[in-house]
Amino acid sequence: MAVRAIRITGDPTLHSPAAPVGEIDDSVRELVRDMAETMAAAPGVGLAAPQVGVPLRVFVWSWVDEDGVEHAGTAINPHLLIAPLALGELDEDEESEGCLSVPGERFPLRRSTEALLTATGLDGEPFEIRATGWLARIFQHEYDHLDGVLYADRLEHPYDKGVAKAIRKKSWGMPGKSWMPGVDDLDA
Ligand code: ZN
Repeated sequence: MAVRAIRITGDPTLHSPAAPVGEIDDSVRELVRDMAETMAAAPGVGLAAPQVGVPLRVFVWSWVDEDGVEHAGTAINPHLLIAPLALGELDEDEESEGCLSVPGERFPLRRSTEALLTATGLDGEPFEIRATGWLARIFQHEYDHLDGVLYADRLEHPYDKGVAKAIRKKSWGMPGKSWMPGVDDLDA
């Protein structure tokens, strides 16, 4: 197992649709193990393969809810159905999310509060998870990564300006930038 470098916004892999996984072989199993280790080291609650430079439709998640229950898994070739978005003002406290590929930043974004994930697990078996709340948000965020979409691409005014400014200030937004969990200090 190994922690892999996380690509930062601007890297082409993050901005292109990923390809379906074919056979779940040793290389896929190794990728998923490394992604789980990288996510834990970051730390983060979700990680998609394009974030470690692998253009495949795989994401992992690990999140402990308000009741202390851990939700964790691997989604291969997922599909996601979501309920319509609510209208109204964004709540910066309740609706802000971050991304390991835009490290250290958080901005509010409206997400659906309900999502139905169908995917194949690492064991090759199909599964389905009906998610609400923050888990539904995680699924939407990670699923977007597989289509080459970052949450930064979805932000509304004035948060779109805010993230663009942060990306400029940190000299991101160009190919070849990455960071290593456990090695690079995010706040530097
Ligand atoms: Zn992300």
